[in-house]
Amino acid sequence: MALIVQKYGGSSVADATAIKRVAKRIAEARRAGDDVVVVVSAMGDTTDELIDLANEISPLPPSREMDILLTAGERISMSLLAMAIANLGVEAQSFTGQQAGVITDDAHGRARIIDVKASRIRQALDAGAVAIVAGFQGVTEHTNDVTTLGRGGSDTTAVAIAAAVGADVCEIYTDVDGVFTADPRIVPSARKLERITYEEMLDMAASGAKVLMLRCVEYARRNKVVIHVRSSFTGHTGTLVTDETPQQGQEGTSMEQPIISGVAHDRSEAKVTVVGVPDVPGTAAQIFETVAGAGVNIDMIVQNVSVAATGLTDISFTLPATDGARATAALGAVQDVIGFASLQYDDAIGKLSLVGAGMKSHPGVSAKLFGALRDAGINIEMISTSEIRVSVVTRADQLDDAVRAVHTAFDLDSADGEAVVYGGTGR
Ligand code: ADP
Ligand code: ASP
Ligand code: MG
Repeated sequence: MALIVQKYGGSSVADATAIKRVAKRIAEARRAGDDVVVVVSAMGDTTDELIDLANEISPLPPSREMDILLTAGERISMSLLAMAIANLGVEAQSFTGQQAGVITDDAHGRARIIDVKASRIRQALDAGAVAIVAGFQGVTEHTNDVTTLGRGGSDTTAVAIAAAVGADVCEIYTDVDGVFTADPRIVPSARKLERITYEEMLDMAASGAKVLMLRCVEYARRNKVVIHVRSSFTGHTGTLVTDETPQQGQEGTSMEQPIISGVAHDRSEAKVTVVGVPDVPGTAAQIFETVAGAGVNIDMIVQNVSVAATGLTDISFTLPATDGARATAALGAVQDVIGFASLQYDDAIGKLSLVGAGMKSHPGVSAKLFGALRDAGINIEMISTSEIRVSVVTRADQLDDAVRAVHTAFDLDSADGEAVVYGGTGR
C-alpha cells in the first residue's frame, strides 16, 4: 500500500464530464488500497476568467481581495470532485488550503508556503477517506488572511503536501503525456522525456515551460519529492523528475547524457528600453535600484555601446509583463534625477531558451542556435547566455517558428509519431 498525492490541473477538471472521469481514476487508486490525497486546480480557465472579471471592475484590484476571489475557483472544483467520488461509493472529504493547514507568508498573489500542518489531511486518511485539497491557496500564520501562490501554484501545493505527509510519489496529472523536449502545442514532433533531473527541470521551468511551476520543482528538489508528470486522459507512463540521472551503460540509456534537454519559450515578458541614458558611472545602478524598489524582478539586460559624440547609451531589460506598469511608473518618476531621454515599452516580444547541462562542454551551441534562426528568417533582439542556457528575444509572432526551427536544428524531433495534446486551451 502506497501513499500517493495526485494533482489534477484545470484542463483535467474542465467540466462535469471531466470531473467524473478524474473521480473514477481516484476511486480506482483508493480501491487498489492506496491512501490518496488529491490536489485540484480551478476548472478550465476559471482563474483567467476571474482575473478578467476583476479587471472589469477595477484597473488595479487590491491584492488581498484578488486572492479571496481567485481561491473561489479551487473551492468549486474541490467540492464537485468530492461529490463525484462519493457517487462512486468511495468516501471523500474536501478541504480549503486553510483547512488543509497550508501556511504561507503574506505576499498576496505570490505567497510562499512556510509550513504545512497536515493533521486534518491525516485524519481524513486514517478514516479511510480520500482527502481533496484546493490547490494554489493558503493562509497567513497570524492574520488568517487568504493567499494565493502565483499562477500554476497548485503544482506547488501538491509537492508541499507530498513532502508533509511523506508521500511515495507526487503525480501531476495534466493534458499532455509528460515533460517534452518542447511544448507539444507548438512542436508536435517534440519528444517525451522518460526522466529529467531536478536541475534540468528547474531550468526548463525558469525558462517558461509551464508544465510544472518553477517553485514546485525547487520545493521538490529541497525535500526530495519524486514527481511523476503524466496525462489524466490516458494510462501512459509519463516523465519522472528525480535526483538520479541514469547510470552510464544502464539499460535503455545512452552512454552519454544528451547535450540539450529541450527548447522552452515564454510569452509572458515585456521589454523596457531606457533611451538616452548618460554614460557615466552609477546610472545603471540607479535604474535597477528603482526597478527593484518597485518590487519587480528583471530577467535579461542589454546596454548598448555609448555613442561617443553624445555620451549617451540605451539600456534595455525584460520583466514579467504583469509588472510592466509598475516598473515604468517607478522609472518615469525619477526621469529627471537620472537624466534619461525617454522610456519605450514593448510587450510584443517572445523569449526562446535552449536548455541543457551538457552544453557547457560543447562549443558551438550558440552559433548553431543563431544559424537556425537566421535560416528561418528570424531576427534576434536580445541574447543572454549561461553555462546551461542560451536565451534570445524575438518578435512574439515569430516565436513559434523560432522554437520549431531550433528544435529541429538540435535533432530533438521525435521519429515515432506526434506528441498529443489532450485538452486545455493553452491559455
Ligand atoms: P495544468 O492545467 O494541468 O496545470 P498547464 O497548462 O499548467 O496544465 O501545463 C501543461 C501545459 O504545459 C501543456 O498543455 C503544454 O502546452 C505546456 N508545456 C510547455 N512546455 C512544455 C514541455 N516542455 N513539456 C510538456 N508540456 C509543456
Ligand atoms: N488555478 C490556478 C492557475 O490557473 C492555479 C493552478 O491551476 O495551478 O494559475
Ligand atoms: Mg499548471
